[in-house]
Amino acid sequence: MIEKRDFYINGRWTAPAAARDYAVIDPSTEEPCAVISLGDRADTEAAVAAAKAALPGWRATAPETRLAYVEKILEIYKDRYEEMAQAMSLEMGAPIDFARSEQAGAGTWHIENFIRAAKEFEWVHPLGDGTPGAMIAYEAIGVVGLITPWNWPMNQVTLKVIPALIAGCTMVLKPSEEAPLSSLLFAEFIEQAGVPAGVFNLVNGDGVGVGTQLSTHPDIQMISFTGSTRAGKAISIAAAETLKRVVLELGGKGANLVFADCDEKAVKRGVRHMFENTGQSCNAPSRMLVERSYYETALEIAAQTAAETQTGAPREPGRHLGPVINKSQFEKIQGLIESGIKEGARLIAGGLGRPEGLNKGYYVRPTIFADCTPEMTIMREEIFGPVLSIMPFDSEEEAVAIANDTPYGLTNYLQTQDPVRTNRLLRALDAGMVVANGKSRGAGAPFGGVKASGRAREGGRWGIEEFCDVKSIGGWVE
Ligand code: NAD
Repeated sequence: MIEKRDFYINGRWTAPAAARDYAVIDPSTEEPCAVISLGDRADTEAAVAAAKAALPGWRATAPETRLAYVEKILEIYKDRYEEMAQAMSLEMGAPIDFARSEQAGAGTWHIENFIRAAKEFEWVHPLGDGTPGAMIAYEAIGVVGLITPWNWPMNQVTLKVIPALIAGCTMVLKPSEEAPLSSLLFAEFIEQAGVPAGVFNLVNGDGVGVGTQLSTHPDIQMISFTGSTRAGKAISIAAAETLKRVVLELGGKGANLVFADCDEKAVKRGVRHMFENTGQSCNAPSRMLVERSYYETALEIAAQTAAETQTGAPREPGRHLGPVINKSQFEKIQGLIESGIKEGARLIAGGLGRPEGLNKGYYVRPTIFADCTPEMTIMREEIFGPVLSIMPFDSEEEAVAIANDTPYGLTNYLQTQDPVRTNRLLRALDAGMVVANGKSRGAGAPFGGVKASGRAREGGRWGIEEFCDVKSIGGWVE
């Protein structure tokens, strides 16, 4: 059993003000694997005070110096990469090979992209031609509160901590209480890199405690949050009194439009993407809309892909799926599968209960529903498990209308080999991100949504800008 009760405050590992033990559950065994402490107001106050005291010095540090610390953090992350992969595999059940390649890899990927963006970032630049002395300056917004979820722990933490450091902000991180081990390890990296005391602080806690204390704190200028739409709304309301900037990365219900002229791997790719990370990704393509003439072929490929998908223990090597994070997510997913059955969708893979041979652990059967209709619960609610809903469409207009008819707007996907239609739909689909034919959005591209998915733009240059105030200057002397 791992015991990690201390918080990282003002450059020191500090015992919590009051003992409030919290058991971190290994989702593959349903047994505790670690004990942390949940912070109290006194811990939050100490962390915010440390960040506030460190702000003037850190903000005034040359950008190149701040960047050098980030480069050092990257070096340490790479040296201790295996520890990071193991921590995430344990705390959230990611199969170890996936934890190594994707979960831990997301951290180094984002840090590298931020380093590249920081090298090109113009902290002060002219407004434009014809306005001599008019300048635009990007300045650190101040003390920031960072609240992260459990599903891609290092992905989220690096998307917030690194640009905040680069921008000259000081911070308090509250990672998810469900998956805090990777963040505690990351705090060790920051300590090892020699980042000055008070610049980065970590307090564990829950949403109603430390989460709300950060959201309402008068000395915090911004909350950067990734998590559920429910918590995003609560944070926005809590933060209103102090008029903070609130940056939200929330849920999603991505559509994947598959046209009859798609490439032959499109359906398989879409199913695999849906199941990746056991379906626990905000950008999962959870609604597959298929052109009717290709519908039966698509269902065959989808069912076959699900049948080939293995589920198993996180410690085993291989490309299998792990468990979902906890009992309440397991039960929520079971309830949604049941609703799909009751509302008349046709089960073509998986279903209720655990996969065969697994009697313990929060394992869910990779599940696919066919013949869905847009009003079904499984087509509207974010399931956050390995459950795909498929339905046919007859025209491009109908497909776009169904895709856009959701409160969410994080990522949509498109599969067609018609170049004119590709570009038309990349613009017509309503989301912060739209991706055609399994291509990449590119290193350093911003990640974020519209509508109930939140309006953050994390990553690369846009990610740094989020942690800055824009100062408009007149009378600059050359
Ligand atoms: P969650 O909202 O329950 O918790 C996320 C974090 O917020 C945790 O640290 C939690 O302690 C804290 N929190 C909860 N309630 C709070 C409150 N009232 N005030 C302050 N903090 C609070 O979400 P989760 O279950 O950890 O993560 C899953 C959700 O995150 C899904 O809906 C998923 O789509 C979303 N997500 C979105 C993105 C994105 O980039 N858009 C990425 C990953 C996950």
